[in-house]
Amino acid sequence: MANNLILLGLPGAGKGTQAEFIVKDYPTVHISTGDIFRANLANDTSLGKLAREYMDAGNLVPDEITNAMVADRLNQDDVQANGFMLDGYPRNEAQAEFLDHYLAENNSAVSATLYFEVSDSLLRERLLGRGRADDTPEVIDNRLEVNKAANLPLVDYYKRAGVLHTIDGGRELAEVYHDVKAVLDNL
Ligand code: AMP
Repeated sequence: MANNLILLGLPGAGKGTQAEFIVKDYPTVHISTGDIFRANLANDTSLGKLAREYMDAGNLVPDEITNAMVADRLNQDDVQANGFMLDGYPRNEAQAEFLDHYLAENNSAVSATLYFEVSDSLLRERLLGRGRADDTPEVIDNRLEVNKAANLPLVDYYKRAGVLHTIDGGRELAEVYHDVKAVLDNL
């Protein structure tokens, strides 16, 4: 059966980078909600117009919009065949519950959640160094605060579900990936 993965961790924890490694070695579909929103922003779609004000401020796009977008993506054939690796979603417990409900309806479930744990100071340093348009110091601070408030309940949520794997994300990329593979090879 295809595996369904969730990458958990605050912005700058290295989810995107590890995702790039994972897709080279495992048959999964990488779904980054941030990337999908940015593509919609760039193409000035109606979804992009809805999301812009939230993204510009570093706030979460409302759940109804985000959940519908994710469900749409998960319904596609590549995901049905290969499973998914979600990056940047869920961002709060309501999204996690929506996802579980969607998966249960499709006789599926989350196989593993990889939680990349990184200290605040290293996160801030990494985000400032990234230089993305929405990575100004003020937006970074707000984004970290907004996401932190929701992160711990999510970690607990997946711990309770028995699928949480915590990985020290503050190390060299290769060391982090070594631990990622150890988890994925055991699924
Ligand atoms: P990211 O690249 O994951 O940091 O996402 C960039 C921006 O997209 C975030 O600051 C949010 O405004 C929006 N976004 C991405 N994923 C989600 C999500 N799961 N729920 C709500 N908003 C999201």
